[in-house]
Amino acid sequence: MYFAMTSSHLQPDAFEPGQIVRKSFGLKKEIQNDLVRDYHSDIIEKIIAAGNVYTAQDGSDRTVTFHLASSFGFCYGVDRAVEMAYETKQRFPDKKIYLTAEIIHNPRVNHNLQEMGVQITTEFSKVQKEDVVILPAFGATSSQIEELRQKGCVMVDTICGSVLNVWKRVEQYAEEGITSVIHGKYYHEETQATSSRVLGYPKGKYLVVLNMEEVSVVCDYIRKGGNKAEFLKQFEKQVSPGFDPDTDLKRMGVANQTTMLMSESLAIAAELQKAVLDRYGDVYTQENFRNFDTICSATEDRQNAILEFKNKKLDLILVVGGYNSSNTNNLAKIALSFTKSYHIEDARGLVSIQEIRHKPVGKFDTIVTSDWLPKGPLQIGLTSGASTPNQVLGEVVERVMSFRSRQDSRA
Ligand code: SF4
Repeated sequence: MYFAMTSSHLQPDAFEPGQIVRKSFGLKKEIQNDLVRDYHSDIIEKIIAAGNVYTAQDGSDRTVTFHLASSFGFCYGVDRAVEMAYETKQRFPDKKIYLTAEIIHNPRVNHNLQEMGVQITTEFSKVQKEDVVILPAFGATSSQIEELRQKGCVMVDTICGSVLNVWKRVEQYAEEGITSVIHGKYYHEETQATSSRVLGYPKGKYLVVLNMEEVSVVCDYIRKGGNKAEFLKQFEKQVSPGFDPDTDLKRMGVANQTTMLMSESLAIAAELQKAVLDRYGDVYTQENFRNFDTICSATEDRQNAILEFKNKKLDLILVVGGYNSSNTNNLAKIALSFTKSYHIEDARGLVSIQEIRHKPVGKFDTIVTSDWLPKGPLQIGLTSGASTPNQVLGEVVERVMSFRSRQDSRA
């Protein structure tokens, strides 16, 4: 089980060795100006005040109307994680402060923290008892937390409550001897942290599946069995130690990385359930198959908000957020399913009026596309991932406006 002590248990300077602090240090006022300086955007506030639709450069071919998604940007978990990180710096100005990974997947936020002296490290050999370690919003593995606890350093836990809900779910499965099938990316820190929770239980097993293609392989194995060695080779990095598909696919419970594509997660759970039903029948399935949708509400809201753009006649959608941000990548995937869209990390992606550097859906590397900004009056959809500061989105808006003001209106 995961336990965290809260700061309300503490006297101001009485941190016990290995203590995990989960509540605010009560320094919100002190960090407010820094947060505004680093993340606020006047133009985004203006667009929100205008009802999320804002027209600039009116009355000419250069008119551009921005449609801001009804749900976008920092989620509750990221808000809290960023605030706690800033408070930690304020609370321990003279201590070495480490992060076990990027606090969230946004380069601007991580850069700001590094500028404040917070170091990202997985090399715990250099962490000392008197140091402070921040656990990121998407969690840390059980072994990382245990190693830091044994070192005796204070840990500041910014792990999102929605991630903790997934942990509870897979721990429950593990306790009952049910294999956790986790829809997620096995290399993502959140999924690594979630799967590590299972291993704290004697009967804990897990299998991570990325997409429907992998689920088809799993379903085939459930229905007909198959070549165990081949199965284990394919899922080598995605299963718990000693995983045996012949026995460990008989009882299963589905969970998700919180930021996956919701529609895909639901479809994956349905496919797995169908396979168990085909193989073992109704009564057995009811007793031995579990499914709890653990997509977080912030992810769900942002994905639904993109779908609202379907009813608008947009020329393009700009999806803004870290290239390694799972939820931003999924927003880009949804947007591309019905209109032209570009996933950019920040305003630097808008190279010029002619060129945009962006990450195509499903790819790891960016490409440059020409003629991305059409001439004539424009309707542009805007959204940003749960880890993207409004300031980054605002800079994108300003850059588009600066291009438009220079664009040749006669063409
Ligand atoms: S995306 Fe969801 S799980 Fe992740 S930090 Fe935000 S609210 Fe929490």
